[in-house]
Amino acid sequence: MKQLRIMAAVLIGKAVLALSRLWGNQGTVLPGYWARKVYPSILKELSAGVKKETVIVTGTNGKTTTANIIAHILRENGETIVHNAAGANMITGITAAFVAASDWKGRSRYDYALLETDEANVPLLLEEISADLLLITNFFRDQLDRFGELDHTIDLIKRAVDGSAIKLILNADDPLVSCFAQESGCEAYYFSYDANAYDQNDSQENREGRYCMVCGAPIKYEFFHYAQLGKYYCPNCGNKNPQADYRASDLLMRPFVQVSVNGNRIQSNLPGYYNAYNILAAAALADHLKITPVIIRQAISSFRSTSGRMESISVGDRECVLTLVKNPAGFNQLLSAFANDGQEKNLVLILNDNPADGRDVSWIWDVEMENIMREDRHIKKIYCAGQRSGDIALRVKYAGWPQDEISIAGDIKQGIEKSLRDNSELIYIVCTYTALFKTRKILMRLKNSGYSPKNRYESPLSEH
Ligand SMILES: [Zn+2]
Repeated sequence: MKQLRIMAAVLIGKAVLALSRLWGNQGTVLPGYWARKVYPSILKELSAGVKKETVIVTGTNGKTTTANIIAHILRENGETIVHNAAGANMITGITAAFVAASDWKGRSRYDYALLETDEANVPLLLEEISADLLLITNFFRDQLDRFGELDHTIDLIKRAVDGSAIKLILNADDPLVSCFAQESGCEAYYFSYDANAYDQNDSQENREGRYCMVCGAPIKYEFFHYAQLGKYYCPNCGNKNPQADYRASDLLMRPFVQVSVNGNRIQSNLPGYYNAYNILAAAALADHLKITPVIIRQAISSFRSTSGRMESISVGDRECVLTLVKNPAGFNQLLSAFANDGQEKNLVLILNDNPADGRDVSWIWDVEMENIMREDRHIKKIYCAGQRSGDIALRVKYAGWPQDEISIAGDIKQGIEKSLRDNSELIYIVCTYTALFKTRKILMRLKNSGYSPKNRYESPLSEH
């Protein structure tokens, strides 16, 4: 009887998936929704069919890229995986991924399950599936939970893993994450960056972990990697970074990350300190799954970023780097990354305020925008676009950028075109969520049409 219900749920799910694709949707959530309607325990049943291990990747920033790198490493190692798509990281999206990866009788065809999910969703997920590993990238305040919800979420995850056999892969440099194991009693493995040339002794960024998670006293830092990640200690109780199992040394960003993880020299195509952490986290987890250093190294060097997480698109002789920002920490990281590339650049900032972006755009005032003024960031010009182009322009102005040198366009196409015409080979286009896909489409159309920014009168966009 149970087998029949599983088959019925999978069949319905697969039918909905086929229909969604027919209608031009990706079908990342609905098949899961309907499969669960038919058989509410379907995720529990299908996830029990994972042959090797089930891995959950969570944290505020970097979980999508980290999970994508891990997926790439596993595939390069010849493994079959269930991996939920970015943006479908709630229970229904994860159920949909299992339905798609099972055969029509509900039998598993996967070695590993790699599940990316929001912090708040981890406890719900653990109620239905039995995971072997939980990787936590970092905990940052998101634009939508600015009022102490982060602490509440961290507590919920701790309670969910408490007493379970799940193993933790943790960021030893984030005091909010590294304390996890002591309190949950779970077996834990840590990854950490050694001191390097990109560290800072201090900065004015918002920092989350200013108080000791053990005793509540203010913590001190020897240095910061970025945001609250760094080498810390509590003068009151002695709480400090745990000993790392995976040590990253000799970091170089020119602008792409090169780093040695326990002596394995890795070269990537990803820029910035936050990607350095994504790479380290993925390498640590892959090593834990007994993937060889050679496969890890080769897979990371062939991994390329997609869908706006530092995707590079050439339009004529212009290099456009498209990137998604959704909170102050991510924005600050981007501005820090500029210090490492040594290249002159223009900046296009596109701010929308649709529900998926967050209706409240006041988070831009928490961004350490003053960094745009620093000479070592090499920013030549700034263009502001999107539904809230005026707001982001105002923020840029208050950061000290001369008002008459800020170009504002409500229309994204116009904003991009203006920036392309300007004389700069490198353009960073920074978007909120709903602006990202539109911007990518515009850039791809320009690229494929052979658009040359040098000739401003032959823009294919001006016809539309
Ligand atoms: Zn303490």
